[in-house]
Amino acid sequence: MNASSNAIAAQPNPSNKVRDFVARKPRLLINGEWVDSRSGKTIAVFDPATGREIAQVADAGKEEVDRAVAAARAAFESGPWADMTPAAREAILWKLSDLIERDAAELAELESLNNGKTRFMASIIDVPGARDWFRYMAGWATKIEGTTMQTSIGGIPGAKFHTYVAREAVGVVAQIVPWNFPLAMAAWKLAPALAAGCTCILKPAEQTPLSALRLGELIVEAGFPPGVVNILTGLGETTGAALVAHPGVDKIAFTGSTEVGKIINKSATDTMKRVSLELGGKSPMIVLPDADVGAAVGGAAMAIFFNSGQVCTAGSRLYIHSKIFDKVVEGLCGAASSIRLGPGLEQATEMGPLVSKEQQERVLSYIESGKKEGATVVAGGEAVSHPGYFVKPTVLVNCNPRMRVVREEIFGPVVAAQRYDDLDEVVKAANDSPFGLSASIWTNNLSAAHRLIPRIKAGTVWVNCHNLVDPNMPFGGFKSSGVGREHGRAVLDLYTELKSVCMLV
Ligand code: ADP
Repeated sequence: MNASSNAIAAQPNPSNKVRDFVARKPRLLINGEWVDSRSGKTIAVFDPATGREIAQVADAGKEEVDRAVAAARAAFESGPWADMTPAAREAILWKLSDLIERDAAELAELESLNNGKTRFMASIIDVPGARDWFRYMAGWATKIEGTTMQTSIGGIPGAKFHTYVAREAVGVVAQIVPWNFPLAMAAWKLAPALAAGCTCILKPAEQTPLSALRLGELIVEAGFPPGVVNILTGLGETTGAALVAHPGVDKIAFTGSTEVGKIINKSATDTMKRVSLELGGKSPMIVLPDADVGAAVGGAAMAIFFNSGQVCTAGSRLYIHSKIFDKVVEGLCGAASSIRLGPGLEQATEMGPLVSKEQQERVLSYIESGKKEGATVVAGGEAVSHPGYFVKPTVLVNCNPRMRVVREEIFGPVVAAQRYDDLDEVVKAANDSPFGLSASIWTNNLSAAHRLIPRIKAGTVWVNCHNLVDPNMPFGGFKSSGVGREHGRAVLDLYTELKSVCMLV
């Protein structure tokens, strides 16, 4: 490993509250109670800034999966949740969001400690985001509606029909989330499912289970009836796979890699589950010749270095018009080298480590592959000699469309910059990817932006901004970036079934 010797500050000690929470006995939330896993097996959890073990969580086995599914099924079919009015569901979701707000500081600290992101970012993005997703989705609970229509061809001469379509909760949902925004991803999944009246089994990523467990405590405190939300910590290939295969689960909602998404999609077919997948990306950022250079530089830095580049929508392919290529790259390199790396709980830190050793090695190996294939590193390009999993913000130039750093998702702070001269050429290059999650266009020419937007094959297109996600904006991917749309009214399609009713009157 290539390592430089930039000093990394020491990770400050966590608060007593967080220290006590991470030291608690490994437990799973099943049917409203914190229970042991029968096998007693546990999984170690690490602080990515130091590489030190900070906690052990339970490794849920098949038996716990069965118990959680049974609890979720019972809660869905009968009891307080099934009988609850939409307004009561709304109120309990709001209660949970208030508890998230009450414990925001603690949650941000926990998220930072476990994921590596800065406490500051967790406190302005992840935690308020989780709160606001619950609030936004709470509003949908009372607005789920069906339609009435006339049958179009009749069938029986002279007969009259009353025909309508009702929307019903899909049932028991297993939700498998990744490690890049652990709390926010849990909220993205739980909030709409609960608003729709489903019951849930949430499986956080094995690397970052702590904030989901803390959320579980708040869920119990908020007063959700037993079995409505169950939280199973465990490994993807065992706990996750068992949920996907379980005949008692009606739907899988997954966010993670395209590779695992494909496995899940295939496995879920055996039991014909509903599946929604939010997968990888390799999002292009297209800078037109008239763009404001300062805005493009700041935008490019934020697009790729936010959350240490561990963002599915990261702007990892940067296409800059030749006219301003040098200026934008120079500015971006300046931004990259001035970012202060450090542990998340240290106030002065601007960018934290990657989530795990595995991820650090993966990102570094991509940088090496880029170099081998002819790319030039103009900023960063190496790890920092420190026990944590740090990789410097990296800018690559002399890239071409065949390189792995241009084609594959790196999920780290590495951007491949390419120059272009012609708009048709850049549209072709931007769309030349198996992914289609998002893209951004940087220009002051309104007409150019509007002409370009329909030509880009992506679920989200930003103009003069990047990585902006809102609970009201449908989110998801074209092509290998996924199936289905989360957020907004669109997410209700993922958590409801349509029932056509036709009555001869
Ligand atoms: P990443 O590449 O970002 O680590 P993964 O797709 O591997 O993302 O993991 C995202 C989530 O999927 C995690 O919660 C992980 O435990 C889970 N997972 C991994 N493999 C499987 C699998 N075969 N079946 C179900 N879930 C899985």
